[in-house]
Amino acid sequence: MSLDDDFNTLLSDTQRFLRQQAELYGDSLLIPRTPVQSTMDEPAHQKNQIISSITEAPMPRKSETDLFRNPDTSQMTANLHAYPNESWTSAESIQLLNQSINTCLKCGLGKTRTKFVFGVGNPKAEVVVVGEAPGADEDAQGEPFVGRGGQLLNKILESIQFKREEVFICNILKCRPPNNRDPQPEEIELCEPYLWKQLELIKPKMILCVGRIAGQSLLKTNASLTLLRGKVHDYRGIPLMVTYHPAALLRNPNWKRPCWEDVQQFRKLYEEMKAEK
Ligand code: URA
Repeated sequence: MSLDDDFNTLLSDTQRFLRQQAELYGDSLLIPRTPVQSTMDEPAHQKNQIISSITEAPMPRKSETDLFRNPDTSQMTANLHAYPNESWTSAESIQLLNQSINTCLKCGLGKTRTKFVFGVGNPKAEVVVVGEAPGADEDAQGEPFVGRGGQLLNKILESIQFKREEVFICNILKCRPPNNRDPQPEEIELCEPYLWKQLELIKPKMILCVGRIAGQSLLKTNASLTLLRGKVHDYRGIPLMVTYHPAALLRNPNWKRPCWEDVQQFRKLYEEMKAEK
């Protein structure tokens, strides 16, 4: 092997390593604006499920499931009042919402998309899975998570006894960013209200975010995936967990084990909430 070959191998290994680090820790080295609660002073029995609030006010230390007994969808509705002239805000069903937003041209992605990817699944789902944005397959078919990552997502859901059609699957962005680039902040800002409305209509018991970008967008934080996963967050009264994006698991199978642990924790909390009903 020549020196050039050695150098190129080293370079591609380094690039792969940095991509994986960015997946885990984010692109930024800045300290998160919304610090996630430290786990250090938690009693041992609470360490597995630390609640981190997205609000400034400290969360009351009640039992985990008590915290989520009354999801506060009024906060979601309050946000939608910021769009008084937009008829989709008063849609009365998921189907009507889709009809009233699927021609959206608010951002540039409206011009480059093939299909608007509204979301798929049970309109009364107890669990909503939120990804980042449609990829090429999803853009072509108009359905989220239908590519290789989607197959893996189906397996992840099956591993915790959820069928794909039983949950609702959607993304932060409804249209594909060209070349699968990261969503831009202004695209998220324009598109996320559609997700708020979806959540207001579906009223899920729990939310599972797959990937750092979905977690950061909903929780309004720059915290890394490492900080976001393995915890139960409070999203307007709805318990929300963040785990790895299936595409990241396809690139790095070593993350499958921690992802499996996250979703087991998700299922356990789901069972606890059902039992308390
Ligand atoms: N990745 C996502 O985040 N969402 C999809 O729908 C497909 C790939």
